Amino acid sequence: MPDRVALRAWILSQGEELLTGRTVDTNAAFLAGALTDLGLRVLGASTAGDRLDDIRDVILAAAARADVVICTGGLGPTGDDLTAAAVSAAFDRPLALDPVALDEIRARYAGLARVMPESNQKQALLPHGSLRISNPVGTAPGFMLTADTGARLYFLPGVPREMRRMWEDSVRPSIQSCSTLRPPRRHVFQVMGLGESQLQDLLGSTVARYPGIELGFRARIPENDVKLVAEEGTPGFELCRDEVRALLGRHCFSEEEGKGLAAVIGDALLARAERLAVAESCTGGLVADLCVSEAGSSRWFERGWITYSNRSKQEELGVTESCLTTHGAVSIECVREMAAGARKVSGVQWAVAISGVAGPGGGSASRPVGMVCFAVDGPSGAHARTLHFGDRGRAQVRRFAAATALEMLRRQLLRIE
Ligand code: ATP
Repeated sequence: MPDRVALRAWILSQGEELLTGRTVDTNAAFLAGALTDLGLRVLGASTAGDRLDDIRDVILAAAARADVVICTGGLGPTGDDLTAAAVSAAFDRPLALDPVALDEIRARYAGLARVMPESNQKQALLPHGSLRISNPVGTAPGFMLTADTGARLYFLPGVPREMRRMWEDSVRPSIQSCSTLRPPRRHVFQVMGLGESQLQDLLGSTVARYPGIELGFRARIPENDVKLVAEEGTPGFELCRDEVRALLGRHCFSEEEGKGLAAVIGDALLARAERLAVAESCTGGLVADLCVSEAGSSRWFERGWITYSNRSKQEELGVTESCLTTHGAVSIECVREMAAGARKVSGVQWAVAISGVAGPGGGSASRPVGMVCFAVDGPSGAHARTLHFGDRGRAQVRRFAAATALEMLRRQLLRIE
């Protein structure tokens, strides 16, 4: 394989549904990240529909430009699954039955107590000279071949779950084994409460003092990832990372990729052997969903209420009639009573309450769309605040509110002001 530092990659996606917008190309996004993390330089990506000539052309163009090509899709049993035939045409490699691939497909059907339909035999036809890539979670096997240009081409099914598993099990080890890659050094800070432009203003000049270290952002709304990336061995990486950490301060909630706010809260609660209850109005269960999406959350998540109506706030949480008539359901006073009620009824140490105007209707001069009230009630007392997210659409207001509630809880739990 050519020079390891400059190993170039190209991503191909196949499927008419990608060109019509019916399917979003998440495979390309996943592979772009995975290849970059491995230390390859992704030069580009192309998509072909269900025409054999088009598929053949994009394969040939990619093989001419890159050292590693990864193609997903078009390996199914139906007539519009043309990838193997296109490879055959591109490199003049006749298709031949791979008996092991056929056995694997049959075994997969047998495992599901079904007989393999005849049409699936097509999936065991692989271009001459290619190496089969087993698919442990689906029927379509993948394959790999080396083109005359020296490019290594990997063909995987389009189903994301199958593609990812085969990437992990076979493709990544194969790429790693045939070249000494130097994955870039990276460090990620997960941040709440600062937008991209604020982050750029806060960190830009500091990181610019370190040549070779790149500052990047990924908005996950409302969270943001701040990334430092550099070639392995770039001097000053640790110093730069420490400076950025100090500048971000309390806004950074995690430096572990994949460990989100709810997981951080779970750890903090577990460390204190305490539990959480949530009382939600406008977020309608989003906070509870974020919590129970964490494996092992039963050890710290107690229960949640969706108290949408005034009656449910009173019946379930003991919110008083006078509070609702005097201050309204979207008020600091109401969320304080909701949180206190949730704590009392559940008997746990912590409760979070949220009530707001998600929009698009229902706003008023005193309670505009996007206004949300939060309360966190815990062993050290109750804290409440109102925030205005603006009229940014119902879904976003709700997402902002759910993440903000968790962030408020994190700060109380970790005693961060
Ligand atoms: P199968 O044997 O399941 O048919 P295949 O290799 O033929 O596998 P496709 O038929 O191309 O795969 O795609 C199967 C499904 O996988 C699509 O309907 C789509 O939902 C999903 N899919 C395909 N390509 C992509 C992609 N690039 N990104 C995200 N999803 C995809």
